[in-house]
Amino acid sequence: MRVLVVEDERSIAQFVRQGLCEAGFAVDLAHDGLTGLDFALVAEYDLFVLDILLPALDGLSLLRQLRERQIRTPVLLLTARDAVEDRVRGLDAGADDYLVKPFAFSELLARLRALLRRPPLQADVVLRVGDLEMDTTRREVRRANRLIDLSSREFALLEYFMRHPGQVLSRTQIAEHVWNFDFYNESNVVDVYVGYLRRKVDLGCDRSLLHTLRGVGYRLSAEIGHG
Ligand code: CA
Repeated sequence: MRVLVVEDERSIAQFVRQGLCEAGFAVDLAHDGLTGLDFALVAEYDLFVLDILLPALDGLSLLRQLRERQIRTPVLLLTARDAVEDRVRGLDAGADDYLVKPFAFSELLARLRALLRRPPLQADVVLRVGDLEMDTTRREVRRANRLIDLSSREFALLEYFMRHPGQVLSRTQIAEHVWNFDFYNESNVVDVYVGYLRRKVDLGCDRSLLHTLRGVGYRLSAEIGHG
């Protein structure tokens, strides 16, 4: 899952980025509202974390611009101000949740996970494809009850596949949701990581779940005869 964090206080921004990266998210940071808007219009994000008081363009204006452009990605607002009007204006502008600074990282993470569980993402806690099972809260993956040890990037990649079972996903789609801007210019990074994942998920199993569609992309599917 890919997150855009727009926060001008560098220490908070770094703290949030590090925590989210450790939790397996791909994170882009913007330190002002206009840069944040640029990022949001160029890449496909699964979540936005927006500070309200920002240089260039404030968080609420940024949020309104996103919603005006029909970008419905869940938004969590960060606010230093404990003012009721701020929260009300934020929610009215289309925010899905807010958190008052200072906050505990564990609460931010829990709130973001809760946003991912809402439609249209409908992020169930336990995802299943065939005999492959992912518990997104415990961060455990099992195939036929055998525990599979994955790196945080492999976990993020598999989570993206498991949220789109049976769908053909292009390298670009995968890169945009699993990597941030720092990485996805390296053109073969997706293939390399799908290779790692396949070794861990499919090796020694009678049936492969992770399929390659040459020149098109990849598909995670338990059905036979789908490539
Ligand atoms: Ca700020």
